[in-house]
Amino acid sequence: MSEFKALVLREADGKVSAKIERLSETALPDGEVIVDVEYSTLNYKDGLILKGLGRLVRKYPHVPGIDFAGRVSLSTAPEYKPGDAVLLTGWRVGELQWGGFAEKAKVKASQLVRLPQGLTAKRAMAVGTAGFAAMLAVMALEDHGLKAGEVLVTGAAGGVGSVATAVLAKLGHTVVASTGRPETHEYLKGLGAHGFVDRAVLAQAPTRPLDSERWAGAVDAVGSTTLATVLTQMKYGASVAACGLAGGNDLPTTVLPFLLRGVNLLGIDSVMCPKPRREAAWARIVQDLPMEKLDAMTSVVPFAELPDLADRILKGATRGRVVVDVRA
Ligand code: NDP
Repeated sequence: MSEFKALVLREADGKVSAKIERLSETALPDGEVIVDVEYSTLNYKDGLILKGLGRLVRKYPHVPGIDFAGRVSLSTAPEYKPGDAVLLTGWRVGELQWGGFAEKAKVKASQLVRLPQGLTAKRAMAVGTAGFAAMLAVMALEDHGLKAGEVLVTGAAGGVGSVATAVLAKLGHTVVASTGRPETHEYLKGLGAHGFVDRAVLAQAPTRPLDSERWAGAVDAVGSTTLATVLTQMKYGASVAACGLAGGNDLPTTVLPFLLRGVNLLGIDSVMCPKPRREAAWARIVQDLPMEKLDAMTSVVPFAELPDLADRILKGATRGRVVVDVRA
């Protein structure tokens, strides 16, 4: 049995520490398909897991990494054979199950998606869980009749926000990006943002239940008072896709935007998303996310930088998407 490199989390005295270790293939948990992982990524949730926060991991030692792309090396499932290019996001892999911060991962066949034509493993992971959720958010807005007008993206310079900005701009929407980092304005303009709103303005708790109608749609990665403010500014019948909680998991709002303006609050879950919807979202990513914009929002880092980067993503200090080269 061959050995492989993995980032292993261990817990001692209530503290979680991360170290790169060599493991035997026999250490892999149960599963039908072994994947030779080529790339994984750093998502906000990975930051929480690497720091032992949120009680997301219950059993140590643990191999984190909530998404990965690579090639099948062994399969007992008829759907996959060695050499098949695959990717995985969600299903609580990297939380309840060992994940993608390793050269090998063993999972259920039903958890895998074939790498879509038109994407390399590296670009699929540049999209990763955050970009996949952004696409689900755009699709949800469309399903609820997204109309022409200004579409707001909050947490815009982060992973979800960057992909949402690029996709919405490609689709011809007028994207207004909310960011707390003015130094990212040129970057966001490059992705297609037309205008900006200061993060601090939206983060103030709303002083009245309804504000002037402005947004034809919104993708929110922040939650809390930011989402509450956004709800007060939606146009009649417009929708907000709630994706994230970078600003907090509370929602101090009133029901008036729903009752008086028919505003829709759409929940976005990428983790348990059914397979047909997953495949549709990946097809839309290939179609509607310009690859040069994806490349512009991506940085590639080696394994060794992950523990430091976990602090940075939780502070909202990373930009765009961070791909992890597990072989570097
Ligand atoms: P990132 O850290 O890359 O982006 C989050 C962005 O939010 C930051 O870049 C920053 O943007 C902004 N931000 C950070 N802290 C605060 C704060 N205190 N108040 C207001 N804004 C803040 O994370 P991701 O894009 O990967 O994930 C964003 C959120 O979406 C997370 O909560 C994550 O858990 C969630 N998520 C949900 C998924 C789902 O299935 N629903 C899937 C993937 C992610 P800026 O500097 O531009 O202001």
